[in-house]
Amino acid sequence: MNKKKHWNDYLWIWTLIYFSLGFFNILFAWLGMIDFIVPIIIAIVKGNKAFCNRYCGRGKLLALIPSVFKMKNQRVAPKWMYSKYFRYGFLAFFLTMFANMLYQTYMVFAGAPLKTAVKLLWTFKVPWSWSYTVTTVPEWITQFSYGFYSMMLTSTIIGLVVMALYRPRTWCTFCPMGTMTQSICKVKAQLKK
Ligand code: SF4
Repeated sequence: MNKKKHWNDYLWIWTLIYFSLGFFNILFAWLGMIDFIVPIIIAIVKGNKAFCNRYCGRGKLLALIPSVFKMKNQRVAPKWMYSKYFRYGFLAFFLTMFANMLYQTYMVFAGAPLKTAVKLLWTFKVPWSWSYTVTTVPEWITQFSYGFYSMMLTSTIIGLVVMALYRPRTWCTFCPMGTMTQSICKVKAQLKK
C-alpha cells in the first residue's frame, strides 16, 4: 500500500532549485543559510531534530535517488564512519573550513580581489564566473556566495558518493549539521534534568 505523501516529502525539490539558482546566479547561494539556521533554531527551541527527520531537502534527495533508480546497494558503511571520533572530527574540519571561508570573505571586504570560482572538495577550483551577473552588489557578499555554494556543493557530492557506496542516507551519520543539532539536543536534554 502506498504511503500518503505529505508536503514535506517533496522538499528534495528545494535542494535541486537551490543548486540550479546558484548555477545561474551565485548570489542565490545565500538561500542556503536557511538550511544552516533553521535546524539550529529548531534544536535550540524544541530540543529535537525535526529538521533532519522531516524538513531537510538534502536528506530527502539522498533517500529518493536510490528508490527512483532502483539502486540495490544496502551496504552498511564501515564502523569508523559512525564513530564519535569521525563525526566530531569531521564537524571540526567542516567548521574550520567554514571559518576559512569567512576569512576569505573578510579579505575581499578589506580590498582583496574577488575570486569567481567554486572550490570543490576544498581543493579543486572550478571557474564559475558566468553566475556573477549582479556586479552592483558589494564584492564580499558575492565572495561569501561562492564560498558557501562551494561548501553546499561539496557536502552534497560527498553525500551522493556515500549514498552510491552504502545505504542511501549514510551521509546523515556524519553530516556536520546533524552532528551539531544532535549535540545541541543532548545539551538541552542534560540541562532539563
Ligand atoms: S543529517 Fe544533514 S543531510 Fe541528513 S537530514 Fe540532517 S541536516 Fe539533512
